[in-house]
Amino acid sequence: MIEYRNLRVALLGGGNVGAQVARLLLEQSEEFANRVGAGLELVGILVRDVDAERTVDLPHELFTTDAESLILGADVVIELLGGIEPARSYILMAMNSGADIVTANKALLATHGPELFAVADQVGAQLNYEAAVAGAIPILRPLRDSLGGDQINRILGIVNGTTNFILDQMDTAGDTLEEALATATDLGYAEADPTADIGGYDAAQKAAILASLAFHTHVPLASVYREGITEVTPAQIESARKAGYVVKLLAICERITDAATGQAGVSARVYPAMVPRSHPLAAVHGANNAVFVEAESAGSLMFYGAGAGGVETASAVLGDLVSLARRHIAGGPGVAASIHADLPVFDIGSITTRYAVTLEVTDEPGVLATLAGVFSDHGVSLALVEQSMTPARPLTSSHAAVPSTATLVIGTHEATEAALAATVTDLAANRFVTTVASVLRVEGA
Ligand code: NAP
Repeated sequence: MIEYRNLRVALLGGGNVGAQVARLLLEQSEEFANRVGAGLELVGILVRDVDAERTVDLPHELFTTDAESLILGADVVIELLGGIEPARSYILMAMNSGADIVTANKALLATHGPELFAVADQVGAQLNYEAAVAGAIPILRPLRDSLGGDQINRILGIVNGTTNFILDQMDTAGDTLEEALATATDLGYAEADPTADIGGYDAAQKAAILASLAFHTHVPLASVYREGITEVTPAQIESARKAGYVVKLLAICERITDAATGQAGVSARVYPAMVPRSHPLAAVHGANNAVFVEAESAGSLMFYGAGAGGVETASAVLGDLVSLARRHIAGGPGVAASIHADLPVFDIGSITTRYAVTLEVTDEPGVLATLAGVFSDHGVSLALVEQSMTPARPLTSSHAAVPSTATLVIGTHEATEAALAATVTDLAANRFVTTVASVLRVEGA
């Protein structure tokens, strides 16, 4: 049997994920050596402060602040710093010096992916990034390899644990968004600054990565439509529940045909949407993640599990490492990024989906027919109308009778964003409508 020399593994970052990766590499070194066919020697851990207190007990001599020496002496570099710089420069330095790369850095891949993949291709380096989307859940390699012989038509992902926890709390405990966010912060699910999560920015980065891989097309982050959950109200959650739906923040990657031109392309978007309670994604509770994939031949597949957490994410990083180390000793270049399809990426105006529009209306004869006419004027057909009444205030000596009001929830069939927006503008101006209380997209049916 051929004996291979140990592979020198440099770890950039010893935080939540990095410390767990280091611990597991050290504790299970013999097992990893058997799986790979060569030892994986952890040669150093780059941090900002070598003397900082660590939650995991690791040999002090491994910590360093000398990035260049660590990187240039490594066969494999695992980047777990986060952020754009210096992560980008360190990865480029590592690839140019002959190292293979594992990273969990979604922000970097979503913004500088093409540059990194091009250099990897040029120098023959492997660049693995399973942990960048949905933490512990194996989804990127299944999309790239296991489904490499299929056509992905649509991905619906719950890829941000913080927002799923918040929406789940609002649904199951009746919390407001602020109350649910406070609980998420107390439990360590939300950052001190939760903007990246609740604003949908984190999910948008993951949507860009998923869509690029699934559709063999570079999908820039700038072309991912994004809405966060900050406008989601308890009333919307309640109204969705009554209609048999749950509100989820979805990352949606979809092959579509542009409604106006008939041209085939793709869409990547993030927004809160109503999902039928019977859909597998509706059962994703707490801070968990799930990715629902619709493939041409395989049909529907669901990938579910922990989307974050130090040790959970370390599992995905180490899976990448083992896979890459096996290939490293066998020789040969990494798998190049596959962007040959080069499909047009359409903006939100090109998609069609279904909508649920909640209106407060005055309860007078002819309201329903009039409002149905507004939808029909814009070519939007109705799937269902539900009504609940608020009784009229009684006539007193001091003021005249106030007409009773009603809440109408109107579900549409598939319509374009443009048609729906024009409908909502006309509804808001209609004399029967006191408020357009909510407009939510409906997905997953
Ligand atoms: P973290 O806890 O903040 O750790 C970052 C580590 O990098 C720390 O050890 C820090 O050093 C070091 N570092 C940062 N900037 C540095 C610099 N300029 N020079 C040297 N060292 C530097 O981050 P994390 O949660 O482990 O996340 C790491 C990566 O994994 C990120 O890309 C993140 O998006 C991704 N990820 C994380 C999770 C998760 O659950 N945490 C899930 C999926 C993906 P000090 O310790 O000295 O400060």
